[in-house]
Amino acid sequence: MSKYYAKPLSKLIAELNKLPGIGGKSAQRLAFHILSLSDEEAKQLADAIVEAKTTMHYCSVCGNLTDVDPCPICSDPTRDGRTVCVVESPRDVSAMERIREYNGLYHVLHGAISPMDGIGPDDINLRSLIVRLQENDINEVILATNPNIEGEATAMYIARLIKPAGIKVTRIAHGIPVGGDLEYADEVTLSKAMEGRREL
Ligand SMILES: [Zn+2]
Repeated sequence: MSKYYAKPLSKLIAELNKLPGIGGKSAQRLAFHILSLSDEEAKQLADAIVEAKTTMHYCSVCGNLTDVDPCPICSDPTRDGRTVCVVESPRDVSAMERIREYNGLYHVLHGAISPMDGIGPDDINLRSLIVRLQENDINEVILATNPNIEGEATAMYIARLIKPAGIKVTRIAHGIPVGGDLEYADEVTLSKAMEGRREL
């Protein structure tokens, strides 16, 4: 395709094409749309990307994406600091927050244990969870990793690691289709999965 387009345009198409869910056709359509924007609109788009990328970082406590540290959830005194919900990604935190029923804190692993891919416990944000549990008075850890092989293996690993400390460990129920991602579960399903969590 590149030979049909001038270099700056094919470069823009190539960058858009790298985004998840954006195939070649969509990338071309978006690139032409961007070129049809006013200079001001195009600049706003570019600035938003740069600003988000330079100001957003991971919360030093929970690992969620935030522009302040600790994040607004960790520093909210009205939340239940004795319950920690462990998820794989910041997108899962957004999914949980949408159901508006959970009032505890989070811990974001940034991945899951996957021996097949060479990802072990030390490759995810797990050590800081253990430190949190040691330094804070925490009642319950809810394991809300995805219901796939990696997510289940990660939940089992964490349960075995922390149960000896006498902390209640629960796993969200299987309302979420197996192999599905937490972030794509609808609100009712996610809410039921939380309600039906069982102790490990
Ligand atoms: Zn936080």
